[in-house]
Amino acid sequence: MSAITVSRVSKRFRIGKAEITALSDVTLSMESGSFTALIGPSGCGKSTLLRLIADVLEPSGGSITISGTPPAAARKQHQLGFVFQDATLLPWRSVLDNIRLPIEIAGTPPPNAQSPQELIDLVGLRGFEHARPAQLSGGMQQRVSIARALAMRPSVLLLDEPFGALDEITRQRMNLELLRIWKESGTTAVLVTHTISEAVFMADRVVVLAAKPGRVTADIAIDLPRPRTLSAMKQDRFNDLQNQVRDALFGEEMARAV
Ligand code: ADP
Ligand code: MG
Repeated sequence: MSAITVSRVSKRFRIGKAEITALSDVTLSMESGSFTALIGPSGCGKSTLLRLIADVLEPSGGSITISGTPPAAARKQHQLGFVFQDATLLPWRSVLDNIRLPIEIAGTPPPNAQSPQELIDLVGLRGFEHARPAQLSGGMQQRVSIARALAMRPSVLLLDEPFGALDEITRQRMNLELLRIWKESGTTAVLVTHTISEAVFMADRVVVLAAKPGRVTADIAIDLPRPRTLSAMKQDRFNDLQNQVRDALFGEEMARAV
């Protein structure tokens, strides 16, 4: 069964008298345990699509299911984990207490909740349990944010440009970490990114969106073997795939000389 299905989904926003079609007729389905990257220019509806899947927004048309149930039911069952570009940690709480937050909010921890110490180990923060967010680097803050998202063992992990604010070197290290965490946790991952190399390196599949109206324009299978190493980025196949994504993003602009 598909972990996520998006069927003919549209989303319109009204701003005063104007109406924006953020998404138009989007159909996608993600296999359980797969890794999908969403890429596209700013404003093409990537965040809107993740918010619809996460039940933060409701579609104007079409439907979405998570393991066969509506997003609202999936959210109540803690099936959805969300990581944002900013780590959005509570500054006065320690690393451990930030990671515990979703379990506290749930009240009685569900039987399958992962222990905070396991989560600390999973994201490689052993020794930093009692640090405050301000004492951590940007990459470490995002590790905390990923651990918090995984606290309830979600079947779906939604990541909205989680490493967009990190430098290139830290980002590549975090990419490797995220692949390891994804594999160990067995979740279905959907990663929004602006970076072509990140999309190709991480995903089984890169879905390209265009703006006005937001829509899917390409769906590119990434046939690089797993487990992946950074040296995969030096291979011809990696470059071919990056070029496919680039062509889908830029089209005829690729040939315009300046
Ligand atoms: P992306 O994440 O790809 O940059 P978004 O999904 O944030 O794009 O936005 C897609 C379009 O929808 C943009 O034109 C944006 O201005 C509009 N939009 C997004 N959220 C809202 C909202 N809550 N109210 C009104 N318009 C919105
Ligand atoms: Mg966005």
